[in-house]
Amino acid sequence: MTFPITDANPVRFAAPLPPRVGIVVIGGGVIGVMTAFFLSRKGHSVLLLEKGRIAGEQSSRNWGWVRQQGRDPGELPIMVESLSIWKSLSHEMGEALGFRQTGVLYLAKTEREMAGFAAWMDHARAHQLDTRLLTGAETAALLKGAVAPWKGAIYTPSDARAEPWTAVPALAARAAEMGVAIREACAVRALDLAAGRVAGVVTEAGRVACDHVVVAAGAWSRLFLARHGIGIPQLSVLASVAATEPLPEIFPGNAADDDFAFRRRADGGYSIAPGGAEHDFFIGPDAFRSFRVYTPILKKEWRSSSFRLRAPKGFPDAWSTPRRWAEDQPTPFEAMRILNPAPNLRTLGRVQDAFARAFPGLGRPKLRTAWGGMIDTMPDVVPVVDHGPIPGLTIATGMSGHGFGIGPGMGRVVADLVTGGHVGHDLSRFRFQRFTDGTRIAPGPSL
Ligand SMILES: Cc1cc2nc3c(=O)[nH]c(=O)nc-3n(C[C@H](O)[C@H](O)[C@H](O)COP(=O)(O)OP(=O)(O)OC[C@H]3O[C@@H](n4cnc5c(N)ncnc54)[C@H](O)[C@@H]3O)c2cc1C
Repeated sequence: MTFPITDANPVRFAAPLPPRVGIVVIGGGVIGVMTAFFLSRKGHSVLLLEKGRIAGEQSSRNWGWVRQQGRDPGELPIMVESLSIWKSLSHEMGEALGFRQTGVLYLAKTEREMAGFAAWMDHARAHQLDTRLLTGAETAALLKGAVAPWKGAIYTPSDARAEPWTAVPALAARAAEMGVAIREACAVRALDLAAGRVAGVVTEAGRVACDHVVVAAGAWSRLFLARHGIGIPQLSVLASVAATEPLPEIFPGNAADDDFAFRRRADGGYSIAPGGAEHDFFIGPDAFRSFRVYTPILKKEWRSSSFRLRAPKGFPDAWSTPRRWAEDQPTPFEAMRILNPAPNLRTLGRVQDAFARAFPGLGRPKLRTAWGGMIDTMPDVVPVVDHGPIPGLTIATGMSGHGFGIGPGMGRVVADLVTGGHVGHDLSRFRFQRFTDGTRIAPGPSL
């Protein structure tokens, strides 16, 4: 089986370009789709532009975990809201989302890991989550057939899973029914600025005038914004995932230890991936420039990361990717409609072995397909969700590997941020200016 969303798929969303709309959203991942969805629900005219296909990048390639557990305290209240939006959307839309509240389980092999879990319980209590610590015996009882080396676990039964590559296109279709104009295969080349503020966008198919633009361009946001002199220290790292053939159910939800992570899939298999932060880090000019601000996270993940000297051609931070371009010529966004990195099969082989050791009754899982995704990350592992430095511009990017679950809640927040509505949460942790105003940049107490 090949990955289901490719640029060979027929274009499904082909709204004509209007000469003017209220708000343009750049990027058809879960953040752009849900922002457009909520803007439309508030009665605004919205155009969503996607250079490739809806959910072609991170939003279809993720693990499909919808979790409150372990979140940065700044994200947690938005995630609690997001979970309730997922529930009502799934009620409204039926099976299309594959949403199930089957729980999230983090497994600990050491007392040190258990202590980290125990410390996070303060945040769970502050939001009345159903999170609890489990003993080794309670943990083993939840995982059928496991050879259990675990001291214990942290468990949130109300956390959930969903099917990324069907859910996000279904949400886009729902947004289109509500009146959002969505156009795939239409890259935005630049912002159109007049008198120092946003006046529209320049796309590969022509200009569109608007009052507001939301940049939700995932791994491409830094490149897009830099052309307008706006700097964010966002980088992307390669994460590899595989879907197994159908297997007997060992746990209906999502679980991870430091060797592997898995999620039960609607098709009866599991999505499996490395459990620790095992990423491939491509060194390009942006990575080079941002090295210092990433030092704390690199120190933490030094051993589990593989470093590669160059990103493949056409990637956002490849050495040969142009940083400046004309508006009347094809841009790097058109040159790479869908960022589709090759997965690291060696890493996935180790995951298969670890899974087989933990669940010997299942044997080494056979893979139906494997894929890679470029996670857009920030040095403090939380996004930028803020107005940009140009009037009319809002930035919602850098979800740092956990934007799928929070997508619906974040979409609601961004819609209110753009239109001056009641945001309802403290967004100060996600400020655009935190990287330049002397704020100490550090990952929060997340798991
Ligand atoms: C392997 C992996 C596992 C993950 N697991 C989880 C998980 O279990 N749970 C979780 O919550 N999160 C997870 N994540 C993170 C989650 O997938 C992302 O945070 C989320 O999908 C980000 O959504 P987005 O809309 O910001 O970006 P994206 O989904 O990347 O969408 C951005 C879109 O913008 C488009 N675009 C870019 N530039 C332009 C332009 N100039 N013009 C037009 N379009 C443009 C791109 O083509 C792209 O489709 C994972 C990510 C990966 C890669």
